[in-house]
Amino acid sequence: MTFITSFLGALLLTSMAQASDCTPITNRFLVTGNDLDKATYKVTMDSCTHIDPKGNSTDVVSLRSFKMRGELFNWVVNSKTLQTALVPQKCLQGCHTFQAANDTKYADLLTEATIVPSPTAGAGIQKAKEQTTEKFLTVDLCPSSKKLQTEIFEKIQSGYMTNVPVALAVSGYWIKNHHDEFVYLLQLQDQKKIKITWVNHSLTHPYDKTKGIEENFLLSPAVDFTREVLGNELVMLSQGLVPSVFFRFPGLISSDKLISQLKAWGLVPLGSNAWLGKGQKIKNGSVVLVHGNGNELSGLVLLYKALEIQPQINANWSDLNRVWNSVTDTMNTKP
Ligand SMILES: [Zn+2]
Repeated sequence: MTFITSFLGALLLTSMAQASDCTPITNRFLVTGNDLDKATYKVTMDSCTHIDPKGNSTDVVSLRSFKMRGELFNWVVNSKTLQTALVPQKCLQGCHTFQAANDTKYADLLTEATIVPSPTAGAGIQKAKEQTTEKFLTVDLCPSSKKLQTEIFEKIQSGYMTNVPVALAVSGYWIKNHHDEFVYLLQLQDQKKIKITWVNHSLTHPYDKTKGIEENFLLSPAVDFTREVLGNELVMLSQGLVPSVFFRFPGLISSDKLISQLKAWGLVPLGSNAWLGKGQKIKNGSVVLVHGNGNELSGLVLLYKALEIQPQINANWSDLNRVWNSVTDTMNTKP
């Protein structure tokens, strides 16, 4: 699937040039054909120090490593900000096995989000850690024969905002079958109209409307969970996307076994307390869930209605990576 087209151009070339000098790649990057050596892809889960070109050091957790154009890269998460990035392996120092008991925001989030026993429906992070007026918009792109609902991206940019944060939970099969619409989203990202946090939503996103939830979605018999999760990471990376640390279970349906496996891979299950299509309401701190793939239009109608009645919601969308912020973070950023 080599979908990246020429419009990506100079910007991405620049980011690759920076990469080899240890500047973390946090946005999209240029990748084509067989650049990414999938056979070398492996789970690492190491705490490391990243040294940037100015000599500044940052605590990160390396989630994966792989070869790209012959050079070793690591996919890492910043322990304090949750920002993920790709960095050349040569820029990491002092790597040792990650301990979930570490006193960092990432370790705390990972631990809290993966507590078992967990409910079969809706496990994971549903709202902000602490009280806030911020809200987090997540748009699911499950496989679909219907068109991308572009109206939502126009509505949330309406008027006064630029770089509106949106988390897109994307399945590999949606990317595969929606090339032009995928490019549309990449262009919105490049033009800084929306700031996309890319969330893994599984590769094939199995669903059978005749089955109960205990044997549906990723609980379906014969599901290869590794392929669904790590396989979709490879799709995202091979499209030049830097995945976030979040994973959204299809249908929000999971099991203790899958949650524990996700934790071992360092990924945070992303739930929602405001799945609008299910009748849940937007509250302060909500992770809001709607479908952008045309499969649940009722959720979008309810979102548009909420924006009409409370237009200030538009000013309160926040970057999903802030969902685990605390008062202490705010104090630290004040001069
Ligand atoms: Zn879905």
